[in-house]
Amino acid sequence: MSTALLKIENLKKYFPIKVGLFGKIAGYVKAVDRVSLNIDSREVVSLVGESGSGKTTIAKCILLLEKPTDGRMLYKGEDIILFRGEKLREYRRGVQAVFQNPFLSLDPRMSVFEILSEPVKNNLNLSKMELHEYMLKLLEMVGLDGSFLEKYPHELSGGQAQRVAIARAISLKPKLLILDEPTSALDVSVQAQILNLLADLKNELGLSYLLITHDLSIVRYISDRIIVMYLGRVMEAGLSEEIFNEPLHPYTQALFSSIPDPYYREPKRISLRGEPPSPINPPPGCRFHTRCPHAVEICGRKEPLEYEASKTHKVYCWLHLEK
Ligand code: SF4
Repeated sequence: MSTALLKIENLKKYFPIKVGLFGKIAGYVKAVDRVSLNIDSREVVSLVGESGSGKTTIAKCILLLEKPTDGRMLYKGEDIILFRGEKLREYRRGVQAVFQNPFLSLDPRMSVFEILSEPVKNNLNLSKMELHEYMLKLLEMVGLDGSFLEKYPHELSGGQAQRVAIARAISLKPKLLILDEPTSALDVSVQAQILNLLADLKNELGLSYLLITHDLSIVRYISDRIIVMYLGRVMEAGLSEEIFNEPLHPYTQALFSSIPDPYYREPKRISLRGEPPSPINPPPGCRFHTRCPHAVEICGRKEPLEYEASKTHKVYCWLHLEK
């Protein structure tokens, strides 16, 4: 049996709400609640859902920017939380991130050469000449030439800056990239170029991606599997074609009905009433029941179990369980 590159089991991240002078804990924001997922080698998994669904918190836990409240995260079968020393450094090299706004992730005081060479110098033992060659090779891989080495972030366009951020992310030969809204801050014309670059790099370098986005058109373009989240919980998960061709969960159906795509089988837009409830006190039963057009009595009382539409397609909804 093959081991997943990254496996998350029942991940929880609750943020305490502190009140008063002594910071008494008055409750918790349940940003991620019992989420499980796995990413295989060379696979692209997309996390989709409205803001507040917990997508970015999952990414932060994987990047060790947040400590999970509970659950396990395994990298190549080993518990990430237990990594120390060289094991931890290897994990940090293996899992890199590309964020939404490249200008916020690039130090404005550093040249592109300094930005790219810093992690390489800290991790690889290269001569001055080899380092320069390495930088040129990195730039070539992201479609930039050597003249960019001397530039500073303010001299770059949005697309060029994102290419530099991608070059830095791949500089230590990672296995997994966390792509957090990698194109949403860019002009539409540049978005397609960055997506093509990411697709090419994935094939060339054998990378896996965890893509976090609300832009469903890019999800279709690049994903192998899709996980739909709502208020910290998984609603539906399946292969990209399963979710696009036959979305089963009412939330997925509403979300995907907003994509302007003439081939999509349900062109009629499904509007959801109201806003997502607060994650401080999520609704009992199915978390989506306060907005679901198909809710029945059991939905507000009992959380739906997993329904397997196929070996790869899972949905959490009483409608399908009761059929
Ligand atoms: Fe709607 Fe009920 Fe299904 Fe939740 S379980 S999505 S409320 S029908």
